[in-house]
Amino acid sequence: MNLGLKSRSALVCAASAGLGRACALALAQEGVEVTITGRNQKRLEATAQELRDLTGAKISTAVGDITSVEGRAAALSACPSPDILVNNAGGPPPGDFRTFSDADWHAALNANLLTPIALIKATIDGMISRKFGRIVNITSGSVKSPLGNLALSNTARTGLTGFVAGLSRQVAEYNVTINNLLPGPFDTDRLRKTMEDAARDNDCPVEEMVRVRAEASPAKRIGRPEEFGAACAFLCSAQAGFIVGQNILLDGGAFNSTM
Ligand code: NAP
Repeated sequence: MNLGLKSRSALVCAASAGLGRACALALAQEGVEVTITGRNQKRLEATAQELRDLTGAKISTAVGDITSVEGRAAALSACPSPDILVNNAGGPPPGDFRTFSDADWHAALNANLLTPIALIKATIDGMISRKFGRIVNITSGSVKSPLGNLALSNTARTGLTGFVAGLSRQVAEYNVTINNLLPGPFDTDRLRKTMEDAARDNDCPVEEMVRVRAEASPAKRIGRPEEFGAACAFLCSAQAGFIVGQNILLDGGAFNSTM
């Protein structure tokens, strides 16, 4: 399927690795001119070169912490009027909510609620005037099925979900869509780190933790980042203009529900 995205521009945040990189790659494969961001300049430039080599697409970079005012300014300076915005940032740390300070709460709300809202605010009016816009927020399966030790993530991401539910209905008539992609376990550096920590806590090999996690899903495996990227590219496609304000779970069927 031709997704109708050739020569569109995309800003993909936190995309030097993992799910952000997978979204950037899938968009670049469709001929989108992509700007990727990340804090580590060396890794960011290496990923950009890798994406150019793989796709031949124009790939730009903006180094910086996307959760900071300066980081967002750098991203928007590199890609001031994106047709596509993929919001992503690292997730907050796990832990018992009793142990979190006010600063922890502010950091989580800033990273996973206020940062995507700020980037949407900076880009959406241009999308409306051009009558095309696609915004995809990478959130988490924990929005639908909260994990007890992820209070910071559950709270901030659910706030973003509520914001998107309202705003997406206000902009759909201009062919601007906003949707959320909710990852279950995907094979990224972050997941590997989580598995290593769990293996240490349970005094077992990492492979055993990966097997247990995979077993928990009807698909009996961990997700592949390219599957996530493909879902993102489709949500950004010309054909996806009628998908509005949705929360799409990619978890191999682990969340058990009829609808
Ligand atoms: P990852 O493998 O750790 O990759 C994170 C990427 O984001 C890296 O390129 C990193 O580069 C960049 N990054 C992180 N914080 C940033 C910041 N403040 N500013 C700019 N760039 C930043 O993570 P992932 O697995 O792809 O996860 C992406 C998101 O999905 C996270 O919010 C995570 O919580 C959520 N999620 C993931 C899974 C999963 O199974 N993978 C499941 C549920 C939810 P630098 O470090 O160089 O900045």
